[in-house]
Amino acid sequence: MTRHHPDSLTLMEYSAGNLSEPHALCIRLHLDKCSHCRSRVDTLDSLGAVMMEQQPKVSVSETMFDDILAKIDSVPALEQPTKAVPKISLLQKLLGEDINNLPWKRQLGDVSVLDITEKFPGQKEQVVLQKLVAGGKAPAHTHRGTETTVVLQGAFSDQKGVFNQWDFVVLTDQDEHKPVAVGCEDCITLSVLSAPVKLTGTFTRMLNPFIR
Ligand SMILES: [Zn+2]
Repeated sequence: MTRHHPDSLTLMEYSAGNLSEPHALCIRLHLDKCSHCRSRVDTLDSLGAVMMEQQPKVSVSETMFDDILAKIDSVPALEQPTKAVPKISLLQKLLGEDINNLPWKRQLGDVSVLDITEKFPGQKEQVVLQKLVAGGKAPAHTHRGTETTVVLQGAFSDQKGVFNQWDFVVLTDQDEHKPVAVGCEDCITLSVLSAPVKLTGTFTRMLNPFIR
């Protein structure tokens, strides 16, 4: 079961169709496995539909946005989802391969990467698959922009906690971390980067993305 979820604002942007294609993919991959967030998106979709219907009569107050976020946050975690979510792996469809059989590029040490930005023509972000071998460590780094990550396989831990399969995490330039793959499986993540990451340890930028 996932423990780290997208925040309400991100789900709201997703429901409104305002996210870029790579960011929307991260959300969809998480939603596919997280009934809690599916319930929240269902609520948002319903609210959006009502607002569209009533648009000419509704005046938007300053507190409306906060009120809506509070409503989303109050959705019970175990509520059954009603929204249909694709059952075929979205990523496998995109890549045409199992993630373990991709042409990974080995970086220094325990990290391999595969840049799949070209799968998203016209998008500004960099989209990268990252693999940290079981028990492996990535060098310490911060981020120059925002990095949105979904764990596709295995798990990793850093100063913020343990991130398991389908967990969702957003890192910013305020976050310095040093991920370690935990468990007996290689940890594979999908990350959308708005700017390159910046190494803070002794390694330099020959390394990528747990490092880029
Ligand atoms: Zn969730």
